Amino acid sequence: MNFAFKYDLLVVGAGLYGAVVAHRAHKAGKRVLVIDRRSHTGGNCYCENNGNIFVHKYGAHIFHTSNKEVWDFVNQFVEFKPFIHSPLANYKGEIYPLPFNLNTFDALWGVKSAEEAKAKIEEQRLHLDHEPANLEEQALSLVGKDIFEKLIKGYTEKQWGRSCEELPAWIIRRLPLRFERNNNYFNDTYQGIPVGGYNPLIEGLLKGVEVQLDTDYFDHREKFDAMAERVLYTGELDRFYNYRFGKLEYRSLRFEEEQLQQKDFQGAAVVNYTDRETPFTRIIEHKHFEDRGAEHTVITREYPMEWSEGAEPYYPINNERNTSLYAKYRTLADAETKYLFGGRLADYKYYDMHQVVALALKADCEI
Ligand code: FAD
Ligand code: UDP
Repeated sequence: MNFAFKYDLLVVGAGLYGAVVAHRAHKAGKRVLVIDRRSHTGGNCYCENNGNIFVHKYGAHIFHTSNKEVWDFVNQFVEFKPFIHSPLANYKGEIYPLPFNLNTFDALWGVKSAEEAKAKIEEQRLHLDHEPANLEEQALSLVGKDIFEKLIKGYTEKQWGRSCEELPAWIIRRLPLRFERNNNYFNDTYQGIPVGGYNPLIEGLLKGVEVQLDTDYFDHREKFDAMAERVLYTGELDRFYNYRFGKLEYRSLRFEEEQLQQKDFQGAAVVNYTDRETPFTRIIEHKHFEDRGAEHTVITREYPMEWSEGAEPYYPINNERNTSLYAKYRTLADAETKYLFGGRLADYKYYDMHQVVALALKADCEI
């Protein structure tokens, strides 16, 4: 311990990455301060209790992993209720089960077996003599024209504000493609929703750790740097370096929440609106994550929008321009000795929660 500093570690960002590292460092006997510019902890996992409905304030969050260490770790802090995420797609009033599986193919084409479904896809899929160069080629070669046009193109172009030809192929490979009747959106061994939402998980992680909210690191950067021997920064990396090479692009979101005096709105936690014209991408009905019998319901419409300074940067846009720009910032970050970096924003990666936890469990907390 270096007593020239009040803290051994300052954690900038009380999201899942910052909370897991803070927990480990605190447990190792380090003096830790966590700050966040928001008025709550938990980053994008944060939930709000609306009359016994746990509202996922920053979009639907389903925990899924095949990593037992990660699963056991989070289960120490909160009980997880088993949950199988099975969103639906609404294309101009037609309802299709997701992810793409025999139930989807049956609803689209009336096919009843894997062979019939494969034959139908084969008829209309794009045959490439090279690796798919973008999301459009990837989707057309994998599932063919009907699915691409009804379930992928409109949704993806709204979500990312870019044409499918400009987006990387791997984004669509996040979704399983199956030829049996199985509407589970994930392939992972473990899947669940924390009982009481994500706040108990974050509160458990931050128990005993000093936290200051409504505090932006950049408002008092020198003061904060002087307080701690090491600084873990989980915000946007380009901002850390004052945008010196130019700005990374992010996708932002606007959430429109509505409380309805009815027991049920859509009968499912998430319905995706996959046409281009509907301005939102999905409607979340939060009570379907954990139904405690409330007489009312709360829904959230999720509207994608381009990020500009002042908005929340929810998704990195990992296209060629941003990947090479990020690499320049990363070179600077890798050479730092006082500063550590991690999480979705500093790594500029489309991480899910289990990936963030796995990385935070490996981070150097021994300072
Ligand atoms: P964040 O949660 O973004 O936390 C970073 C924190 O740092 C924020 O609280 C921010 O306010 C703070 N911060 C940044 N800069 C500063 C600064 N200068 N000063 C002070 N504080 C600062 N994952 C899943 O596994 N399953 C899902 O179903 C799922 N759904 C998602 C849906 C949406 C709409 C989104 C956006 C993400 C979803 N995720 C999901 C991903 C999940 O949210 C992330 O993997 C995880 O929350 C990342 O944690 P983090 O700590 O890296 O980042
Ligand atoms: N996607 C789609 N149609 C859907 C759902 C997803 O085309 O109904 C595509 C879209 O490009 C999206 C990607 O698949 O960005 C990944 O979807 P996921 O549900 O993993 O997105 P997230 O929940 O992370 O926003």
